[in-house]
Amino acid sequence: MQQTMTLPYREPLVPREPGERQIPEPPRRGEEGGPPCGICTGAATSAVWSDENWTLHPPVGGSLPGCVWLASRVHADSFSDLPDDVAADFGRVAARVERAILAQGDVARVHLYRWGDGGAHFHVWFLPRPLGMVEASGMMLPLWEDVLPNVSDEELRTAAEAVAAAM
Ligand SMILES: [Zn+2]
Repeated sequence: MQQTMTLPYREPLVPREPGERQIPEPPRRGEEGGPPCGICTGAATSAVWSDENWTLHPPVGGSLPGCVWLASRVHADSFSDLPDDVAADFGRVAARVERAILAQGDVARVHLYRWGDGGAHFHVWFLPRPLGMVEASGMMLPLWEDVLPNVSDEELRTAAEAVAAAM
């Protein structure tokens, strides 16, 4: 049988109960009552590429060179908060980022994640799933990304600059 996606942990894992719900939830960066927006205040990594609507950034403390995150220039929370023209432009720019990551080679697929739980400024993660690493399919990739040893931030930036050059 073909190997399918697996957790990056040895079994047995033991399910646990969810904690008490926190309502109201703690404020996120960039929303009222929360810390300042890291993207608007320039606290995030500097962009390796940008156009009139978007900026593209390398991660820090990651294990997958070629990973980048895309942010809107406008401070808006989620898809439903973006101006219509920017929201419509997302598909175009996402395709460009995907193509640029695939052009680096050794990448099977580009996974997109928008969580929005850390900051209230629209940003989407683009994670390259390494070619042949089928155990990291689907939702397993961010878990594997967390468990694999980090590469240096310099290497992450250099790889993001190579993606930017292919945009
Ligand atoms: Zn912001």
